[in-house]
Amino acid sequence: MESTSQISARLLKMDESVALADAHCHLDLFPNPSEAVEEARRAGVGIIVTAGSDGASNMKTLQLAKNGVYGVVGISPDFSSHESGHIDGLAEIIKMNRNIVGIGEIGLDNTVLEKAPMEKQKEAFQKQLEIAKAMELPVVVHARKALKEVMQILKDSEMDRVIFHYFEGAEAEAKEVEKEGWLVSIPPIESSRRKRVIKALDLNSIVAETDSPVVGRSPADVIGVIEKIAWLKGISSVEAGERITKTIKEYFYI
Ligand SMILES: [Zn+2]
Repeated sequence: MESTSQISARLLKMDESVALADAHCHLDLFPNPSEAVEEARRAGVGIIVTAGSDGASNMKTLQLAKNGVYGVVGISPDFSSHESGHIDGLAEIIKMNRNIVGIGEIGLDNTVLEKAPMEKQKEAFQKQLEIAKAMELPVVVHARKALKEVMQILKDSEMDRVIFHYFEGAEAEAKEVEKEGWLVSIPPIESSRRKRVIKALDLNSIVAETDSPVVGRSPADVIGVIEKIAWLKGISSVEAGERITKTIKEYFYI
């Protein structure tokens, strides 16, 4: 397998306008976000979608979204109880910066019920879906041990653009996501279930993410995820990288 630097070198040589893309990370959590962005750029990752999760991180995301960095803002399920007051201000934040391209991460998480009761989570999720609908924006969804419920709410709300960050479902659920025209985002953690999901889906329904620094080390790590997807799909890393970038650009209207 080619090394990361070989792939980025080839990619950059091929077409300078092609940049690899990390569909989901949290730049606001890095001690030095601009260093992480620079490292990614040197590796060929020129498009980064960073997600907010509470009031303070949304403000940081607003500042960071520039020069190839795009942001989504939202109140994540674990903050849906304490930070729900920030939901009403989301539309204003979004209007302040053209590089804020969606709402996220939002959704339901059955592992944080002590911090955020399900009732509160659902209320926050619904409210934010309404804002996304009104503003015609895509949503980046967090569904942890709650995939079926999240999918039902999204269907009931008739959401047309949804990215399932850190998709944890099996093949059947992935196919359902694909049927709705939504996207499955693949994190750096491998599993046999995830391999089957990648094989079962059309490449057009797949994007790659690092969820760094929570899961991956930095947005540059998305290259490893793209390589895995390429290998499972039997195509070159360059082709996989280009197709995934195209999907992300089209989905977020970048
Ligand atoms: Zn995340």
